[in-house]
Order: sequence, then C-alpha cells, then structure tokens
Amino acid sequence: MQYDHILIRYGELALKGNNIKQFINQLQRNIRHKLKKFPNIQIKRTQGRLFILLHGEDPQPIIQICRNIFGISSLSLAIKAENNVEEIKKAALFALNHAENIKTFKVSVRRVDKKFSYGSQEMNQILGKHLLQNTEDITVDVHHPDVEVKVEIRNTGTFITSSVIQGLGGLPVGTSGKSLLLLSGGIDSPVSGFLAIKRGVAIDAIHFHSPPYTSERAKQKVIDLAKELTKYTKRIKIHMVPFTKLQQEIFKKIPDGYAMTVMRRMMLRISEQVCKDNELLSMTTGESLGQVASQTMESMNAINEVTNFPVLRPLISMDKHEIIKISREINTYDISIRPYEDCCTIFVPRSPKTRPKRERVIGYEQAFDYHELLQETIKGIETVTITDEEEVSPKFDNLL
Ligand code: ATP
Ligand code: MG
Repeated sequence: MQYDHILIRYGELALKGNNIKQFINQLQRNIRHKLKKFPNIQIKRTQGRLFILLHGEDPQPIIQICRNIFGISSLSLAIKAENNVEEIKKAALFALNHAENIKTFKVSVRRVDKKFSYGSQEMNQILGKHLLQNTEDITVDVHHPDVEVKVEIRNTGTFITSSVIQGLGGLPVGTSGKSLLLLSGGIDSPVSGFLAIKRGVAIDAIHFHSPPYTSERAKQKVIDLAKELTKYTKRIKIHMVPFTKLQQEIFKKIPDGYAMTVMRRMMLRISEQVCKDNELLSMTTGESLGQVASQTMESMNAINEVTNFPVLRPLISMDKHEIIKISREINTYDISIRPYEDCCTIFVPRSPKTRPKRERVIGYEQAFDYHELLQETIKGIETVTITDEEEVSPKFDNLL
C-alpha cells in the first residue's frame, strides 16, 4: 500500500464568491506549471477539492514544490480506498502508521456518499477500534490528538489522510494584476517582492545602477535575487536603468540636503514610464516607515507626489528583524548581504534632509532642466528575463 494522492486545500479562496472559479483555475495552472517535470501526475478538481494523482511518483519532491505555491493553504498525503469497510480499515491503519512521533489520535469520518451503509459515527467507532487493536502505545484523544485520521467517503471512493502539511497561503499568482518591484540589492526589496507575490501579484522588477561606479557584480546580485523570487512566480523581467548621468546631474544641480529626495522622485518618474510601457498597474517598494531618511512621512510625501500610480509598500509596518527573518526563510538574505556598490550608497549625500519641504523640492527641480536626461535614461534601459527554469545564465533581451 502507498500514498497515491496529494490533497490540496486552498483556504482563503473559499471566500471569493463568484470569482472562485477563476482563482482555482489559476491555482491549477500554477501548480501544473511548477510540476511540469513530473509528466505522470494528474491534477484533478472535484467537489471543491484539488487532488494530485501521483501515478507512482515519489510524493516528497512534489510536496516540497507545492509548499512554495501561493494559494495553497495546506496539503495532505492521501490514499484512495474502495468504499468498503475492510479496505478503509487497511488504509486508515496505513495512514496512522505513517504519522511520525505520535502518542494519540482521533478518527474523523465524513460521509459524503449517503448510499454508504454505515453512518459517520458508526464508522468512527469501527475504525477507532481497528486502529487501537492494531497499534501499540497509541491512545485516542478526541480533544487534542497528535494526529487526526480523516476519512472522507465520497461517491468516487474514500480518501484517507493523516498529517497536514502547512502551505504558504496567500493568493494564486496572476489573480491580482502585475506590479513593478523597485529592486535594489538590499535586504528589504526582495522581501517586499515576495509579499506582493503572496497576494497574487505577478511582478516585473526595475533596478537603477550607475556604471562604472557600480559593477557587473551588483547587477548579477539583482539577477540572483530575482531568480530566488521566481520560485514563487513564473518569470520576472528586470528593467536595468543606467542612472549615472542623471544622478551626476542631480548632485551637481540640487543642494546636498535635497539631492536624495530629487533622486527618488526621478526613480519614481522612470518607474511610472516603465509601468505604462509594460501595462503594469502599480509599483512596489521595500520601504518601511522611519527606517532611513527617505522613509519618513515627510519624505514619502515629497517623493510620492510625482506619480498617480499606487505604490505598494508591503513592509511599511515591519521592524528590520522581522524583514530579516523572512529574507532568511526565502534565501535572499545571503545574496543581499554580499558586499556591493549600490547607486544610492555611492551618490549618498552627507546629510540628507529627513523632513524635506515639498515646496522647496519643487523649486529646486524647476531650476533643473532634467526632461531630456530623463528621456535619454529611459531609452537606455535594458531588460533581462529571469525564469524559474534551471537555465544556465539569463539572456539580455535587447543586447546586440
Ligand atoms: P533595500 O534593502 O530594499 O535596498 P533600504 O532599506 O536600503 O531598502 P532605501 O535604500 O531607502 O532602503 O530604498 C528604499 C526602496 O527604494 C528600496 O526598498 C527599493 O524598493 C527602492 N530602491 C532603492 N535603491 C534602488 C535601486 N538601486 N534600484 C531599484 N530600487 C531601489
Ligand atoms: Mg537600499
């Protein structure tokens, strides 16, 4: 006997009323995509449940992949038995024996097939007794069992599960539109991208770099970070913005205390144009309130006004240690702490204003004819697409 199914639960999706079909279709497509290297499996949908039929495949690698798919709240290995008491008893015992480190259990039978000749309560007793008789040192605890052997008697057969494996939750990627992630090489923005993806958002990324002050290594770092994020989505197109000339002009023309504010405004202007050119509906940043000079309320007010696009800030209320915890869990931390030069740290003013005045920023910008430079910068953007495939190295889309 062996586990032949994986049962997939999708918690929050159940709340989506009329949209449920679209959400589940997307989840099913996403699962199929992530599992395409297992040609034998089938993904089936019945009565509000998703099942993976294993057809002899080893379930462990499949479970590991499914644990990174947003929209799945939990998973369980399942055995399908015929609707016959003896077969169900055997399968229930198998499931209990495969649960590790347990002292107590409980059986929960759900009879969906009303033609089945025993009621749920009767089956609970029959199975409970069978399990007690055929195991040692395990007792029943109906309130706080170590494991719950769940038995669902359906028209098509009986499904038996024991352990529940937690999934990531969230919404299936592709159900919440697409956003442009401002991806630096730091710790915060990859985590922010991860959390946007969690809510079903597909992402493109934009990275501002300043060659020759920033090196190829810095660019590679961003590519490696995006690669980690593709584990949770399908592909990420990175727009690499050559920012040197514009940055140099800003630091020549704008008083020191306001250079950073103006630089951020330029970043948002360029990002907005990239959104428009690529049909993206919002931007996402790794900002967290009060963390640094550019992330005070006054700074955000002075910076944000250049765009009408929504700016998602999934980290806004998080402490640094909470952000670091997530970055370790998603394997971006070690990439983020690689030493490298960031365009924002190279041209960092000695004393950026933590409370810039909006009127003064506007005044300084009016005396600075940046429009042509902005267009030139946008023209110089190169893009690279990173996918979740195990390819050797990414290809730049528009390099000769
Ligand atoms: P991070 O760890 O994400 O770099 P941070 O704490 O260093 O964030 P800032 O440097 O103030 O904070 O950047 C705030 C946000 O601006 C970043 O989270 C990111 O979304 C965006 N950003 C900063 N630098 C760049 C860059 N070079 N390219 C693209 N986006 C950037
Ligand atoms: Mg940074």
